[in-house]
Amino acid sequence: MRVLIAADMEGISGVVHWDHVQPGHFEYARFRELMTEEVNAAIDGALDGGATSVVVTDGHRDGRNILVEKLHAPARLNSGSPAPLSMVEGVQNADRVFFIGYHARANTPDAILCHTWTDQVRGVWLNDREVGEIGLNAAVCGSFGARVALITGDRAAVQEAIDLLGPIESVVVKSANGRMSAECLPVEENRAAIRHAAAHAMVRQVSPLIIGTPLRLRVELTRPDQIDRALRLPGSKRSGGVVIEWTGNDVVSVYYAFRAIAGLAGS
Ligand SMILES: [Zn+2]
Repeated sequence: MRVLIAADMEGISGVVHWDHVQPGHFEYARFRELMTEEVNAAIDGALDGGATSVVVTDGHRDGRNILVEKLHAPARLNSGSPAPLSMVEGVQNADRVFFIGYHARANTPDAILCHTWTDQVRGVWLNDREVGEIGLNAAVCGSFGARVALITGDRAAVQEAIDLLGPIESVVVKSANGRMSAECLPVEENRAAIRHAAAHAMVRQVSPLIIGTPLRLRVELTRPDQIDRALRLPGSKRSGGVVIEWTGNDVVSVYYAFRAIAGLAGS
């Protein structure tokens, strides 16, 4: 049983502000360490549950947050950016996927640092189902037959994952009462809970997320000039002042198209 641990940072214990996840800010060093240890808890749990290999993919910003020298063996680390499959690079060779430190999609109330890829993306739909990073990444996982079996993050992120994927293993590490305000649970307890949940996630019955094709992607941006730029993507079309559409026959192509649109939109 091969495990991919796809890690982000906004849903790590204690994170409530962009400063916490911003390289260069003096507080960032603390939180990258917390991120590394939360991933370690998931590695240990995966091994407890019988994992034969564990790969970790660092999915926050440029993928240079996890401290490789502190990462528990035998896990390997996908670090740096851009990787072909970005936040879920490595899923090509995984059976189960754990989302660690994830956050809710753009415009979710009471969700720490909710967003979808960049702050310019207001909404994303796959065949009319609204998704955020959880849904986009889970769809890529599903297209390779890999099952997302664990989510950790704030209460809103966990709820978003369960609404989409069904009752997977989950650990709520904080409960937000705003976009930048939360009640944070004890870090040590969160790590113990993540290890426990990761072991359970190795055996729990879960299904891969399968999205029908052709797959219609819709992305709502913030300003019309961002759509003007994003329309350079071949095959895209405007469907409203700040909405762009692109249709593809496989999930990975749609994932590439989404990242191209987000990139072209700029800031
Ligand atoms: Zn992030």
